[in-house]
Amino acid sequence: MNEDYLLKKLPIREHGKNIVKILKYVQGMDRYYFPVMAISLLFKTAVPYMELLLTAYILDGISAHTGIREMFAVITASVLAIMLLQFLSGAIYHRMEVRREQMYHLYECETQTKMLEMDFSRIDSPKIKELKDRIIKDNNWGAGINGVFWSCSGVMEHVFQMIGAVVVGISAAGYLFHAGTVSVWLVMAVLLAVQVVSVCLRMYFGRQRDRWRYHEAYSVEEKEEIFCFAWDFAGQESYNYKNGKDIRIYEGYDLMERWTTEVLRHKGFRKPLLRAAGADAGEAFFGAAAGGAAKGGAYLVVVMLALAGTITVGNVVRFAGAFSQLLEAAAGVVHDIPTLAMAARQQLSTLALIHMENEMYQGKLPVEKRSDGVYRITFRNVSFRYPGTERYALKNFSMELTVGEKLAIVGMNGSGKTTMIKLLCRLYDPQEGEILLNGVDIRKFKQEEYSRLFSVVFQDFTLYPFPLGQNIAVSRTYDGELVRKCLADADFGARLAAMENGLDTYLYKDYDDEGVEISGGEAQKIAIARAVYKEAPFILLDEPTAALDPLAEYEIYSNFDKLAGTKTAVYISHRLSSCRFCEKIAVFHEGELVQLGSHEELVADKNGKYYELWRAQAQYYEAEG
Ligand code: ADP
Repeated sequence: MNEDYLLKKLPIREHGKNIVKILKYVQGMDRYYFPVMAISLLFKTAVPYMELLLTAYILDGISAHTGIREMFAVITASVLAIMLLQFLSGAIYHRMEVRREQMYHLYECETQTKMLEMDFSRIDSPKIKELKDRIIKDNNWGAGINGVFWSCSGVMEHVFQMIGAVVVGISAAGYLFHAGTVSVWLVMAVLLAVQVVSVCLRMYFGRQRDRWRYHEAYSVEEKEEIFCFAWDFAGQESYNYKNGKDIRIYEGYDLMERWTTEVLRHKGFRKPLLRAAGADAGEAFFGAAAGGAAKGGAYLVVVMLALAGTITVGNVVRFAGAFSQLLEAAAGVVHDIPTLAMAARQQLSTLALIHMENEMYQGKLPVEKRSDGVYRITFRNVSFRYPGTERYALKNFSMELTVGEKLAIVGMNGSGKTTMIKLLCRLYDPQEGEILLNGVDIRKFKQEEYSRLFSVVFQDFTLYPFPLGQNIAVSRTYDGELVRKCLADADFGARLAAMENGLDTYLYKDYDDEGVEISGGEAQKIAIARAVYKEAPFILLDEPTAALDPLAEYEIYSNFDKLAGTKTAVYISHRLSSCRFCEKIAVFHEGELVQLGSHEELVADKNGKYYELWRAQAQYYEAEG
């Protein structure tokens, strides 16, 4: 990954494009956010100018002996108007904050939804991994999307402030041209020069800060390979009580400390950040110096004009105020625009993820709904390699799955059994060959309809820390009777009866103190009940029982055979004994289908892979027994 990503110089046009891109996205999320922001800031910036004008009016009124009634009326009206503006700006600001907060979370949800909807085949690809790392880093060294909101608000406020200064102080220009002496122009020139130098110095310190914050800090972290782990793993997973056992038994804190507190104490980690803070202080110093010079200079100019007798006391206050506000606002814009450009740049990675198009071909054909469940799947010369790998996980694989069939797939670990299931469900597309449903390439079907054909219990299935009923239906609403029946069929009936809250019982304790901890075997039963509840014509069991002893696995598999009924079922196991009841057994070896037949047929072939595996496993069980 390129460490200099955020520091590489970009043409101003590119910065402009980035800013427009993120602002358009924000506008798309909430089209009222910027108008509301503008109104709030307009009211906010109007207040100091109204105060300035009022002070000027009072001073001039006193020297011109204006009537007390008139002055009282003007002062009362102005004070009321100022109060109203302050109230409105505050009230609108709080509404704007609600919108900002909502958008902040919405933006987070967009990225999470994207990860959930992304082609499965891309989730663990190196490209997505790199993008995810980038997003974590980009959002860590800034305020995330809030950085865009805040710096945008800063730019808008300072621009309004400049416009206000010009409106309030415009008549000063006339005075200057009429009454400006050489010394006045000289002071003005010095003032301008001071501001230009200060802007240059502030930009220099700003660049230094970014360099230390984004570049040096990054490279230290990458050297240590700690960044993502420290924030992503240690930050999140330390809260997960399920991780606590191993950490205690193996005194894992030493390992964790390496990735957590040690990172923060690491001198190399702190040093660049301290330097960044130093540069920040430099920027602040020259900002304050320029502000002071602006104010002082502005007063000097108007005092010189006043001494020359060309300006009233009220106007002295008005022009000096407007002038110093103008310079202050200009300095603010100089600070805010690069900040906005950086904040926008830091969101490019997130936007790249959000705008990422799925690559898998999306078919449009509906899947024919058949009450007789007659669906036939054909693998025709299918070969497949995982993205970024050279080795074939499945090679020249051909087979047919006919309705109601019970097929077992056996073979050693890594022989391609799970891969075949993933291809069957179209989590990946094969590079060669084709998979057909009733003679039609599965790519041509609407994916969500095609997915409905399959119930799968994966090896690493996931149960959610939600109520049991919702886990079975994978939905917040469900048919309670059917859920109970499926749980009973999966041999979970007695356990369910013992649960006080029945189907509303939470699994695990993440979201409910009364949630239940379940054993590995119970989890498998729940996963099986979930597969049965789906009522799909194909039901696939991919070794979810690997952690069980062979007898328990055999029991689950034969029970599952009854549950599968007339459905087409595929059982995967590396234990041959579990699958011998199947009428058809496919033997996989190194990504290839090497044998196909019934247990009796296969075991009779003394030179076959099946016989070799059978002998090896039988010996093991005999020895154990
Ligand atoms: P089995 O289910 O028979 O144990 P798999 O189908 O899971 O075997 O794996 C077949 C081969 O593909 C193995 O060599 C495995 O390492 C590799 N493999 C599996 N999943 C991935 C993946 N996501 N990325 C890269 N290689 C993988």
